[in-house]
Amino acid sequence: MKKWCMSLVLTGCFLNGWCWGFYGHRLINYQAVFLLPPELIAFYKPNIEFITAHAVDPDKRRYAVAEEGPRHYIDIDRYAGSVVPRSWSKAVQKFSKDTLQAHGIVPWWIQVMLQRLTRAFRERDVGAILKMSAETGHYIGDAHVPLHTSSNHNGQFTNQHGIHGFWESRIPEIFAETEWDLLSSKAVYLKNPLDFTWNRIYESAIASDSVLRVEKILSERFTPDRKYAFEERNGVIIKQYSTAYSSGYNEMLNGMIERRMRESIFAVASFWYTAWVNAGQPDLKNFVKKEISPDEKLEFETLEMKWKDGRVKGRACD
Ligand SMILES: [Zn+2]
Repeated sequence: MKKWCMSLVLTGCFLNGWCWGFYGHRLINYQAVFLLPPELIAFYKPNIEFITAHAVDPDKRRYAVAEEGPRHYIDIDRYAGSVVPRSWSKAVQKFSKDTLQAHGIVPWWIQVMLQRLTRAFRERDVGAILKMSAETGHYIGDAHVPLHTSSNHNGQFTNQHGIHGFWESRIPEIFAETEWDLLSSKAVYLKNPLDFTWNRIYESAIASDSVLRVEKILSERFTPDRKYAFEERNGVIIKQYSTAYSSGYNEMLNGMIERRMRESIFAVASFWYTAWVNAGQPDLKNFVKKEISPDEKLEFETLEMKWKDGRVKGRACD
């Protein structure tokens, strides 16, 4: 992966404790652009900076909007023994809307985003296409993170506090650029996007056991002074998982995080492509590079301000 690609992704990067971290979400959206067919690349590539930067808006929104939180996860283990219907209406019938909201709604929210993106393509609304693309990418990325499908989302029930950010932020920040191969096959049309998402959710749920178990085993082999290290970030000294510990975890997971990131990238590109096909494959040749409107500028600034000043509304994992 070329350095110049990554420098864009890394701009403004800082340590964040949940949801692939800001680094991971930006990287996923960035890489997804290159899996698109030529008609779409010609539109997305000139706007790649926007697509990358706004990959993290849904996380920022968690500081501003209370309803935002459950859109990022689903605690499948809360339904132990019960099958969760894949369709929203059937799931509401079986469990009630309140229960679904309480345990997270990411698979269904991805469907909402897909509809919004499809509409944006149909209406040839450049601003909405880019915004919905960037944000759809975020939620799809979240669905690929094992701990986004578990109520023990930050190891809080098993004395593994911090594992969430460790898996999805710390490890990618160390290895994604230097050691991982994130190239995947080209985007495909998804005949049944909801089923596709649910399959990814169950893969995440199955993997969540290993994510926790492996870290437990590794932590028994490291003394605290070897497990953690102090690093400077933006002029602040922070306690961080050491490189040796991170390396050990990455190895013991046998490429799981790299694989999930690669699968996220493929999924994001495929959802973008599917929305475009479902919208009737509008010709994007005349779609120009996006200029941000004053209203959008205000919205982005407000999100940024709430995120910097506020506390997350609902569940946080850091
Ligand atoms: Zn998220």
